Amino acid sequence: MDIDDLARRILSGERRALARAITLVESRRDDHRAQTVALFEALKGHDREALRVGLSGTPGVGKSTFIEAFGLMLTGQGLKVAVLAVDPSSARSGGSILGDKTRMEQLSRDPDAFIRPSPAQSQLGGVARRTREAIGLCEAAGFDIVLIETVGVGQSETVVAEMSDLFLLLLAPAGGDELQGVKRGIMEIADLILINKADGDLKTTATRTCADYAGALRLLRKRPQDPAGFPKALTVSAREETGLQGAWEEMQNLAQWRRDHGHFAARRAAQARFWFESELRQSLLSRLDREPMKGLVQSLGTAVENGTRTPSQAADEVLAQLEGRAAAPT
Ligand code: GDP
Repeated sequence: MDIDDLARRILSGERRALARAITLVESRRDDHRAQTVALFEALKGHDREALRVGLSGTPGVGKSTFIEAFGLMLTGQGLKVAVLAVDPSSARSGGSILGDKTRMEQLSRDPDAFIRPSPAQSQLGGVARRTREAIGLCEAAGFDIVLIETVGVGQSETVVAEMSDLFLLLLAPAGGDELQGVKRGIMEIADLILINKADGDLKTTATRTCADYAGALRLLRKRPQDPAGFPKALTVSAREETGLQGAWEEMQNLAQWRRDHGHFAARRAAQARFWFESELRQSLLSRLDREPMKGLVQSLGTAVENGTRTPSQAADEVLAQLEGRAAAPT
């Protein structure tokens, strides 16, 4: 594969080249990893920056309907929109919540949009790295907004929040009791809570739910990196396409405020550091699952069971092997 040519085509915004490059970063083959490194080297130096927007919500809350309507609104304003997914269900079982049905049909036909389902990987960590690299490729290809969608289960929101400039939580209208169902941690990472389905019979409930969440958000601790009034709760209807422009304006205001106050770049820098550390940890751990370490760990495990090694002696032997030094005498 001609990596320089691929890089050139990505930079000129060719969607086929972008799709091909994402396939490359999703591959686990060693030669593909090396090509990915070369590709990012070849792409270095462009100064394109997309707004990275994370979006989470439980199945059925209206994520695909929202992304379709919101994405079409943005492309209608002359913006280029990429949609990536982080789907922990596909990581675990091979089946996916986000990829099964035909989603976002109109948006997927829009020449200014690019939609990519979640990579099937065995670990959320692997999905995270590939999604992060895919975001970088979408930026290089000149996309203005990258939406990173995830379902509200497990750790995936935190993972997505760590790769986003802004994080949106989509919720359905519900009775007051269900407010408790949203974990505090998720509320804390949300910049905007959007109560969807504020239309027809659900409109009144949506307005009340929105007020409940606005109240709950006021009780969270103040964020020094944000202007007054954030995080905010708003009502939208993805189906009737109402409230979408208002939500977009809030996102732009927040992003601009953070840019003006240096928080935008600081957040990206902190994220880069976080990913460096988590990738390092993950790579170290994965070495234990590969030969020759795997066999050593197995046999030392047996030795610990037999009582011929203590747990700490055995652990030191493994570390010594990794570090290429002699183990402490047993
Ligand atoms: P996802 O699983 O989060 O992607 O949710 P979908 O976008 O597939 O929507 C789930 C269901 O909610 C579908 O039947 C949609 O038609 C419906 N829905 C989505 N957005 C709205 C909305 O704004 N108003 C109403 N009334 N229904 C909606």
